[in-house]
Amino acid sequence: MDILIPILALGVLAALFGLLLGFSSIKFKVEGNPVAEKVSAALPGSNCGQCGFAGCNAYAEAVAEGECDINLCPPGGEDSMRAIAEIMEVEPVEMAADDADQGADANTIHVARINEKQCIGCNLCHKACPVDAIIGCPGQLHVVMIDECISCKACVKPCPMECISMTPIKIPNAPEWPLPRNHEGATV
Ligand code: SF4
Ligand code: SF4
Ligand code: SF4
Repeated sequence: MDILIPILALGVLAALFGLLLGFSSIKFKVEGNPVAEKVSAALPGSNCGQCGFAGCNAYAEAVAEGECDINLCPPGGEDSMRAIAEIMEVEPVEMAADDADQGADANTIHVARINEKQCIGCNLCHKACPVDAIIGCPGQLHVVMIDECISCKACVKPCPMECISMTPIKIPNAPEWPLPRNHEGATV
């Protein structure tokens, strides 16, 4: 019988705190921006900072407020830009030009490569990579796993030796379609 009193007291306290938490969560709820949430869902979520904002959510909020262009996310590319255009009910635009992509064809991507002769193993690139595509122990040569690289370039600037470059590679097994031709057989 003695044990029932503390159990009941604890039960009553737990119920009271539960009610208090429930009331607080309703009363002090912080409303998010539903448009920013939709824009954020259209972004890759890599948080690489290449758009100039501190992560995808910050960029999504700026887009939702109309404070910046909708084409600033290279990892999301044209798909993200078009999805954002639909959400914001604006016309799609050209993707922002990237020097590394000039002259590249549809089957070429740029991945990070480390010059092994210059790498001092400082580990800064590993810390900067949002998808853990760079491996290496402190003080040892670091290497990019190119299959994991999303071409975000977040590792390039932090390297004190400037030994990371974005290198074009052909996408393996990319389909190669014949160019369209007009009725005279010339490519168009
Ligand atoms: S560039 Fe794209 S993926 Fe990178 S932080 Fe900005 S919105 Fe996110
Ligand atoms: S290795 Fe690739 S994915 Fe990682 S930061 Fe560098 S460019 Fe971005
Ligand atoms: S930041 Fe540069 S020097 Fe440092 S580990 Fe990476 S590649 Fe090597």
